[in-house]
Parts: sequence; C-alpha cells; structure tokens
Amino acid sequence: MLKYLLVIGVIAFVYYFFIKKKPIQTTTRTQETTTQSDEMVQCQTCEVYCEISEAILSNGKYYCSQECLKSAK
Ligand SMILES: [Zn+2]
Repeated sequence: MLKYLLVIGVIAFVYYFFIKKKPIQTTTRTQETTTQSDEMVQCQTCEVYCEISEAILSNGKYYCSQECLKSAK
C-alpha cells in the first residue's frame, strides 16, 4: 500500500512538473517576443526599419547602426 502511494506520488509529481513547466516557458517566450519585436523604428539616415531594441537613440532620433549615427552628424 505504501509503495503504491509512493509510485503514484512520483508520477503525480513528474506529471505536475511537466505540466507546470510548459506554460511558464511559453509565456516568457511570448513576453520576450512582444517586447523585442513589437516596435519598429525608422533609421534617420538610410530609412531602414529596425527593431527598437537594436536601434540607437540619439537626440530623439533612431539610427540602425553606429555608421548611420556618425554620418548623420
Ligand atoms: Zn541606417
């Protein structure tokens, strides 16, 4: 009887562990993707659109790279 409870407990623990871990991974992934790729900004020099996380902000204007930032000044 005690062995049965132990086996059921282990199975329930593993089942609960896998079920609970999957949604956490998907929610963190969707949060990351929405915050990273949500906003697109246009480079002031070459007019190429790039992600806001990769863009360089200078004097309220966005630039896609350091080269565009230097050529703008
Ligand atoms: Zn550019």
